[in-house]
Order: sequence, then structure tokens, then C-alpha cells
Amino acid sequence: MKGLSVSFGANRVLDSVDFRIDRGEIVTVVGPNGSGKSTLLHALIGGVRPSTGSVRRAPGLRVGYVPQKLSLDATLPMTVRRFLGLPRRVSRETAQVALDHAGVPGVGRLQMSALSGGQFQRVLLARAILESPDLLILDEATAGLDQPGAAAFYRRIEEVRKETGCAVLMVSHDLHVVMSASDRVICLNGHICCEGTPEVVAEAPVYRALFGEGTKGALALYRHHHDHHHGPAHGHSHDGPTEQTRKAAADA
Ligand code: ADP
Ligand code: MG
Repeated sequence: MKGLSVSFGANRVLDSVDFRIDRGEIVTVVGPNGSGKSTLLHALIGGVRPSTGSVRRAPGLRVGYVPQKLSLDATLPMTVRRFLGLPRRVSRETAQVALDHAGVPGVGRLQMSALSGGQFQRVLLARAILESPDLLILDEATAGLDQPGAAAFYRRIEEVRKETGCAVLMVSHDLHVVMSASDRVICLNGHICCEGTPEVVAEAPVYRALFGEGTKGALALYRHHHDHHHGPAHGHSHDGPTEQTRKAAADA
């Protein structure tokens, strides 16, 4: 993705974003609500037309996508196996391999409406990995899961990566898991605020100002974004923490 900007009417949601992901990498995008995370993923899969910039894929690249929201009519009878065969039929073996990889080997015959939250997310994961993607994209796939459920889900993702060698790009709010499970972290707020390996980013003063440390990290993130000032050009200063973010980091 090069110099990519997306606007909805007068609302510029992404501004000159440069991004790449290599084979086998796990990259996580963090940022407050409305910062353009889902739009970035949509632009990557070709679901949103950029106003400037471009997206280039390796030839033949296969992408699996787990959307942020998927609501199914609870009154519509549909088994997991049937769901996996939409929109394209897959063999029973292929479906079973995907369910195994996603960590829910036994749910094939269950109704979609009978699944727990964690099982439902894993079935979505199974659907995304059905066709052995080179790149797996997940948009807040653990929202709605409790902490152990989310942690288990991320371990699954890491195992899928290990077993299949696919790259993983995800949006997440679980900062602790993000920091332990990602090769690279990107902080997005309409533009890329900072990025790097978790170690490097965690040591960076700007990251500490953004995220704080310890258990209040997530809080510091949101405080930062609510406080920070956008200049006339494309956003806030990248010189270092502002008075507010320094205070947020100190409080955290
Ligand atoms: P995030 O995933 O970080 O919460 P989104 O990418 O979903 O953010 O949305 C970023 C901004 O773009 C929001 O202000 C949202 O209202 C707006 N937006 C997203 N999709 C559309 C759309 N299809 N039409 C109009 N506005 C949109
Ligand atoms: Mg989103």
C-alpha cells in the first residue's frame, strides 16, 4: 500500500498511508475507534476505492478475511458445515481440516446459532483459512470474547501461522496480547503514528507516551487520542510526546 488516502465524502479517513506485509509476518494495527483500521483492511482487500495511492499484491496472492461484524439470522437454520460451503462448496475433508486448524474440530454438525462466542469466532477463522490463504486478515476477531478466550484465540492464530506459513494482519484492542503475539505493531490514527517491532516500539518514547506502561496501557492509549491536537497538515507532531501525552504516560 503506497500513499493511500481514502475519503468518504468530505471525511478523510486515511491520509497517505504506506504499508507492506511480508510472508509469515504477524502485524497488528491498533488505534481508537474511527481511526480508519477497518477501512485500511477494506482497502487492502479491494472493498474500498482509494482517492489516492495504490495497493499492489504479489501475483496469485490468496487472502482470507474475518470481518469485524457478521450477523446471521438466528432463526435461519444452518449448520457449521453448510456455512463453510458458502458461497463456494468445499469438500467435507477441506472443511474438517479448516475446523481442526481453527481449534473447533467437533462443531461441523452444530447449528451456527448454537455456537458460543468463542466457537463462532473460530468458525469464522476456519472459513477464512479454508482456501489456504497466504495472508490472513482479521478485524477485531476477539471482540466479545473474555480474556482467556481471546488469549486462546491468539494462540490459535500463531499456530495457524506456524502450520501454514501465512502472514497475519489483524486489528486488535488487546494490547497485552498484541505486544506478545505480533512481529510488528502499527499505531493508526488516520495516518501511521508509529510502528515497529513490539520491543522497539515499546521502548520508543513516543510509544510510551501513546500507550503508557503496565495494565493501564490501553487507558493511556485512549486518553492520548482524545487529547491530542491535529495540526493543519496531516496530524499531530511526531517530534515527541505533547504535554497531555506526557501526563497520560506519567499517570499510567
Ligand atoms: P475503525 O475500524 O478504526 O473503528 P473505520 O475504518 O471503521 O474505523 O471508520 C473510520 C471512519 O470512516 C469513521 O468515521 C467511519 O464513520 C467512516 N466510515 C467507514 N466506512 C464508511 C462508509 N462506508 N461510508 C461512510 N463513512 C465510513
Ligand atoms: Mg473497525
